[in-house]
Amino acid sequence: MLEESGIAAAVRLPGQTKSSPEAQPKPVASSSTAFRTSRNRWSSPSPLRSFLSAAALVLVVALVQLILHDAKLQRLQVLRSHLIHSSSSSSVSSRSSFFFPLHPHFPPGPPIASPVAHFDDPDAVCLNPASFPSTQPTSIPLTTMALADDTKRVVDQFEFTDADVNAHVQEFLKQMNEGLAKDGTSLSQIPTYVTAVPNGTEKGLYLAVDLGGTNFRVCSIMLNGDHTFNLTYNKVAIPKELMVAKTSEELFAFLAKQIELFLREHHADRFESHVHRRHTGSDRRGYTEEQIFRLGFTFSFPVQQLGINKGKLMRWTKGFDIPDTVGKDVCALLQNEIDKLHLPVKVAALVNDTVGTLMARSYTSSGKHRSILGAIFGTGTNGAYIEKVENIKKKIEGEYDTSTGEMVINTEWGSFDNQGNVLHSTPWDKQLDRESVNPGFQMFEKCVSGMFLGEILRLATLDMMKSPESTLFKDTNSSTNDWATTTNVAAHSGLHRQWGLDSAIMSVAAADNTPELSTLRQELENTLHIYNPSLEDAQAFKSVAAAVGRRAARLSAVAIGAIVIQSGKLNDPKEDIIDIGVDGSLVEHYPFFRDMIHEALAAVTEIGTQGADKIRIGVAKDGSGVGAALIALVAAKMEKPGDFMREMRKDIKRQLDSLPAVADDSRINPAVAIGGVIGLAAIAALWWNKKR
Ligand code: ADP
Ligand code: MG
Repeated sequence: MLEESGIAAAVRLPGQTKSSPEAQPKPVASSSTAFRTSRNRWSSPSPLRSFLSAAALVLVVALVQLILHDAKLQRLQVLRSHLIHSSSSSSVSSRSSFFFPLHPHFPPGPPIASPVAHFDDPDAVCLNPASFPSTQPTSIPLTTMALADDTKRVVDQFEFTDADVNAHVQEFLKQMNEGLAKDGTSLSQIPTYVTAVPNGTEKGLYLAVDLGGTNFRVCSIMLNGDHTFNLTYNKVAIPKELMVAKTSEELFAFLAKQIELFLREHHADRFESHVHRRHTGSDRRGYTEEQIFRLGFTFSFPVQQLGINKGKLMRWTKGFDIPDTVGKDVCALLQNEIDKLHLPVKVAALVNDTVGTLMARSYTSSGKHRSILGAIFGTGTNGAYIEKVENIKKKIEGEYDTSTGEMVINTEWGSFDNQGNVLHSTPWDKQLDRESVNPGFQMFEKCVSGMFLGEILRLATLDMMKSPESTLFKDTNSSTNDWATTTNVAAHSGLHRQWGLDSAIMSVAAADNTPELSTLRQELENTLHIYNPSLEDAQAFKSVAAAVGRRAARLSAVAIGAIVIQSGKLNDPKEDIIDIGVDGSLVEHYPFFRDMIHEALAAVTEIGTQGADKIRIGVAKDGSGVGAALIALVAAKMEKPGDFMREMRKDIKRQLDSLPAVADDSRINPAVAIGGVIGLAAIAALWWNKKR
């Protein structure tokens, strides 16, 4: 508006035939005249008026002083009578209790040589309050017996004895072999068509994406061919609203978008040249193999593999529930969204994270011992191991390389013993299952993995809090809390919400062995909004968390132990090490998780201490990403010369033809050019007019 009127005024200036009302100086002049008049009246006072004003001022000041003095006298009187009354009972307690009533259990502390007020001094208006007793307050175990009993009641229910370990191993072996014999059993035992593992000499640059249960990772991996690799990655949390939906379109669109962002950030040169090529429409079929990324897709859910880059989703797990995706090819769903963004990416291989971990561990281990098992203990749990083809009794559809006599089998052990032959559930396991999106399924996973451990702990903790005998996170008063205050659980605490307790706090609880458990207590405040938990509260929480974590580790040993026995390597004198690759935040971060597994393995009759010593469990960090790259490489090797590019060019041509032609960014749009010329001419005319 202002600019418009400014231009209008400028245009009118030369021949000004019309004047606007705002241009008239009259109203401004009249207001300044009024101001001058009033100032003149006050600038020439008469002598009588000056005298009266001064007298009034003196009167007001005297009055105010009188009032203030009176108020001060009154305050002093009140203070004096209060202090004289207090000092007449006991000198020490009177000094302390004047401001801070002491709890009877706290020692009163030595007399304190603080400046004492002289009550006769009329200027004494503020006394120095007594300081706190110098001895440290200690927690008074009034109610802890009840809490200790209640904690034991809960902890005992997570007991998993050596006998339990053995019984579960036998059942696991039985269900493994059932799964190798037929479909539709609790352990799916899915053939992966991977018949060999890498030896560390593989080379090349590959893209990999990993859809876990909590996070989505996009990475590019340069395999150096000497057991080493260089990995660049981005990681984002999967938005909860995409996990439970009617269709998976938004989920896969989100994944494709993350791939685009990754390429822009880390492979800008290759990405930009692709964009430029696409926009100019030049050389449509001029792609070379170097310009297209082959991508390994790690998809950590049960899939029926139909080919190296083709697989139908069997069911969702880990809290995902998107009904329309079950039975669909997840590679095609991802490729579709990648194509919508016109990215130079081809989904070349579909990999389960367990298979990826096994591949990565084999690639990086430089010794003669190849891994026999890749296992995941993250949001979910699962394992893939090398099986003799002769043991796979059910039909393996399609072609595969028979030269090694072996094939990697994806066990899908998360659903071990869904039928409940041996697994026994605590009330909190049962409640978790009832309230989950897949009751009755993934029963082993629900006792073992990161997504569920926190929830079990939450339900057990809530149960203890509700029990009238237990004092967990409840203080009778500040004397029962070693911080001399009372605990408060915020209404919005995760304790009150399903999945509101992340199992990461269990690692903090297990790692904190300080006498005051100060780190754990800080974590309870920070993550669960439980303010001022007492030492006893933290001890109880730590005990229950440890029981849940220990049972998970011993159950993990059941799966690992059964596969070690199945491998037949325990009694092979040539095999002095049985290597196992693991990945996932739980096994990586939970203190002593692997040690607890080892301890339970030694308790298995067929393994014993000697057998357990042969078993080496090593973390294959980022195993699923590296493994996906390795499978993409395997896929590349399987292609007949020219296959990949022929298919790729066909896809790209189809997409480009279906697009409306987009002009090259570098060419000048004629409409913009004409607009620019007219604009310039208008400015020149204005300037010329003004000058004249
Ligand atoms: P994903 O399963 O998506 O590949 P992760 O392997 O990182 O991802 O596992 C994430 C799971 O691990 C979450 O359920 C989380 O609660 C759990 N978790 C993360 N950190 C820890 C930790 N320090 N201790 C125990 N569990 C953890
Ligand atoms: Mg993972």
